[in-house]
This record gives sequence, structure tokens and C-alpha cells, in this order.
Amino acid sequence: MLYKKYLFTTHWKNKRKEAIQSWGNRCRFCFTDLNINIHHKRYRDRLDKSILFNEPTKYLIPLCSKCHGLWHKYHGKRIMGGGEWKKVRKWIKVGHTLDNAIRFCVFNPKEFFNGSKLKGYKY
Ligand SMILES: [Zn+2]
Ligand SMILES: [Zn+2]
Repeated sequence: MLYKKYLFTTHWKNKRKEAIQSWGNRCRFCFTDLNINIHHKRYRDRLDKSILFNEPTKYLIPLCSKCHGLWHKYHGKRIMGGGEWKKVRKWIKVGHTLDNAIRFCVFNPKEFFNGSKLKGYKY
């Protein structure tokens, strides 16, 4: 089945519901509850088998359409690590735009902040 078609199935709708029940109905990056999408943290298991239809809830992450779009813009299909939303939120807290926070969240923060005015910020 095509992925696009899959997103219209009852099975997916239930998966979506499960994800929202487990994570809450807010974007994991910016906390909005508007335009929530469900991002697949990964599409394949450790043996490289597709997990579509059997996605564990922990791999389904609520993101608003804006953050979701930015994630894919900067990171494509890269698998999102567990601490990434924490990093994004931290970086927003110290004054970065959502766009920058998401863009830089996979870099080593020490490298990223080296030489910047936030140099003293402790991670
Ligand atoms: Zn968001
Ligand atoms: Zn996604």
C-alpha cells in the first residue's frame, strides 16, 4: 500500500490516536496544539524491515505542521534521536528562532555555540 493511502486508513487513525494519548496533543518542539502531525521517528526496525502498520507508539511523535516541515527540510529522513526535542526547546529558550533551533539541533552544541554570545551557556 502506498504511504499516502495508508495515512487515510482507520488503522493509521488509531495509531495516531495512540500516539497523541501517549505524548499529548502538543508539538514536541514548540508546544503548540495547532495543526498537529504525527512524525515517524523511523520507518524501519533494526533488521531494516518496514515497521509501517506495526509502528510502536514510541516512534510516532506529535509535531506541528511547521516544526514537522522544518525537521524534514533540514534533516530529511534522518532518524530523530530521543533528546532532540529537548535540545530544540532549550535552544528556543535561550533565544533562537524555531527555524535555527531545528536546523542546528543535530550538531554538537559545543561546536555550535563556540564563539557565539551564548558561549557561557551550560549544557
Ligand atoms: Zn511545533
Ligand atoms: Zn515526519
